[in-house]
Amino acid sequence: AKRQGKNRYCLYNAEMAQSQLRKMELEKDLRKALVQQEFEIYYQPKWHAALNKLVGMEALLRWNHPTLGLISPTEFIPIAEETGFIVPITHWLIKEVCEQNKEWQEKKVMNIPVSINMSARVFESQTLHAKLEEALKESGLEPRYLELEITESIALNDKENTIQQLKELQALGVRISMDDFGTGYSSLGYLDEMPINILKIDQSFIQNSSKPTKQAIIGTIISMANHLNIDVVAEGVETKEQNDFLQSTGCQIMQGYYYGKPMPVHLIGDWMEQIYQ
Ligand code: C2E
Ligand code: CA
Ligand code: CA
Ligand code: CA
Repeated sequence: AKRQGKNRYCLYNAEMAQSQLRKMELEKDLRKALVQQEFEIYYQPKWHAALNKLVGMEALLRWNHPTLGLISPTEFIPIAEETGFIVPITHWLIKEVCEQNKEWQEKKVMNIPVSINMSARVFESQTLHAKLEEALKESGLEPRYLELEITESIALNDKENTIQQLKELQALGVRISMDDFGTGYSSLGYLDEMPINILKIDQSFIQNSSKPTKQAIIGTIISMANHLNIDVVAEGVETKEQNDFLQSTGCQIMQGYYYGKPMPVHLIGDWMEQIYQ
């Protein structure tokens, strides 16, 4: 038994060392990824179920690593946040998204807001307002076509300062969306304090939405948002059943595989042809 225990300990250590090594490698390579143009922006549609039309897109970052292949943001975003690389990456993202969205408008492909995910680090850097203003000005995109998705963790360090920044961004005309709603500890209190225009119900509620408790929570979130004059988006909608339940509860804007996965720009035309057919 003693020997077995020792072996297990070794195995555990080897695995730890492996994932530690991979993390160090990614951290090193992340440094060069921006200049080497290894990032790609995928876009996932937000669909209005009653109006039956596209009402928004979310920008989701992808990393095409030269040797390791496509790396998930769930793996590299935390590393980018720890190292601070997320700040220049987000600045780049803002510029790209503004240019892309302006191009879609000019080519009459679509006329919708595009959202970008924000990390706490970006707020800490106090650069957001200047970078957004610059990107909007240079691209000629109107601010109402840009949205920022934040989570509760955004304001853990300096809440007052973050709220102040959010208000200034809203004053620019940019809309603020609360992501992953319902998963944090202080969701309800946050709605009162934070300047929020849109609320995204977390996938974990949607994907178990046949359970009565989840249904009750979803219903409560939607009616509360309606009272507060906040738009609601359901995340992770995968089935017709989920879609129909959400609609019957008063939520109209859906995001999820049921309507469309995140996709690279060159595939969006095909997706639109197929969904509007
Ligand atoms: P998120 O912001 O909550 O984004 C939603 C995630 O759910 C995306 O994963 C999306 O591909 C996935 N998803 C969408 N619909 C469905 C569905 O119907 N079923 C299932 N199972 N999944 C669905 P993704 O693209 O891997 O991104 C993961 C997370 O990484 C994001 O979660 C976000 O927190 C972070 N992230 C991605 N891009 C960025 C970025 O540019 N900046 C920052 N700061 N974070 C990012
Ligand atoms: Ca998001
Ligand atoms: Ca989310
Ligand atoms: Ca998330």
